[in-house]
Amino acid sequence: HRACEADVQSQLFDDDLRYRAEHNRRLEQRLALAVRNRDFTLAFQPIYDSRVPGRIASVEALLRWEDADSSPVSPGEFIPIAERTGQILELGEWALHEACRQARRWPNQISLAVNISAVQFLKSDIPKLVRSALKETGLPADRLTLEITESVLIGDVSVIGPQLDKLHALGVKLALDDFGSGYCGINYIRQFNVDKVKIDKTLIDEALKGPRAFNILSGVCRIAHDCGLVIVAEGLDSIEKLKMVNDLGVDEVQGYLLSRPVSASEITTLSQAILPRLWPSGAPRDAIS
Ligand code: C2E
Ligand code: MG
Ligand code: MG
Ligand code: MG
Repeated sequence: HRACEADVQSQLFDDDLRYRAEHNRRLEQRLALAVRNRDFTLAFQPIYDSRVPGRIASVEALLRWEDADSSPVSPGEFIPIAERTGQILELGEWALHEACRQARRWPNQISLAVNISAVQFLKSDIPKLVRSALKETGLPADRLTLEITESVLIGDVSVIGPQLDKLHALGVKLALDDFGSGYCGINYIRQFNVDKVKIDKTLIDEALKGPRAFNILSGVCRIAHDCGLVIVAEGLDSIEKLKMVNDLGVDEVQGYLLSRPVSASEITTLSQAILPRLWPSGAPRDAIS
């Protein structure tokens, strides 16, 4: 009986693997076609200054793949595939240029954040791409932040370090994305000269549930501030989370509670509103304490 059950289990497991392999293979083909046809757009999510009510400090560009024939595929699903196939190089370069082009039309005080994959850092000359994107679009370097994840920094310090230095020399800023979700973020802020940390949604979610995660979050915030870094809290989807991170003194806040990702022109509209539509009743620090 046991053996039989194990057989069924392993059969199910094989089916699941086969299904996923097939699913990924199809997605890979569709992605190749989509890259050729440029079936991508960018969505932009505001990142608010936590001290000035409703002030958009910067905006994160997020890739969207709109497939006319089937339901949209999320970046969480297609980016890893594009990284595996190398398509991220073309896609990422397009996203950088397009984001800079759109940001150029926003009010001057709004800066832009663009995600750069570890694969791009390994396989293309990012400082060169950034220089040409800034030159072609006319976006000032000090309005651009590149968001990188730990996976970029896992690489050889002697290769990555100089690339980051070159980017700084251009005048762009660097943010460590998904901070607190990985292995040793604290160590990376010691080794690499980043300007910002973006605290991952998972750490913020857990910090509300128990004292351990909360203490880690508050410790991480203290260390980041002591190192002179700007702290962004990501994935805020409730008033409790906004209040918690405000109490911890984070500098900037981002999440569905404040605004979903929107189109480039909506960014201009949101920035002109005295208080954005979704902002919970005025200044976060004053109103929610
Ligand atoms: P990320 O850079 O950490 O971006 C934040 C993600 O969290 C976005 O998901 C955003 O829509 C989502 N988000 C924001 N607020 C909330 C919230 O309150 N609740 C929840 N549940 N989610 C929230 P998205 O757009 O699906 O992107 C997922 C990831 O895909 C990004 O994570 C980034 O790693 C990657 N990605 C997206 N666009 C690009 C790109 O142009 N280049 C590269 N290399 N990666 C990208
Ligand atoms: Mg990001
Ligand atoms: Mg993130
Ligand atoms: Mg992420």
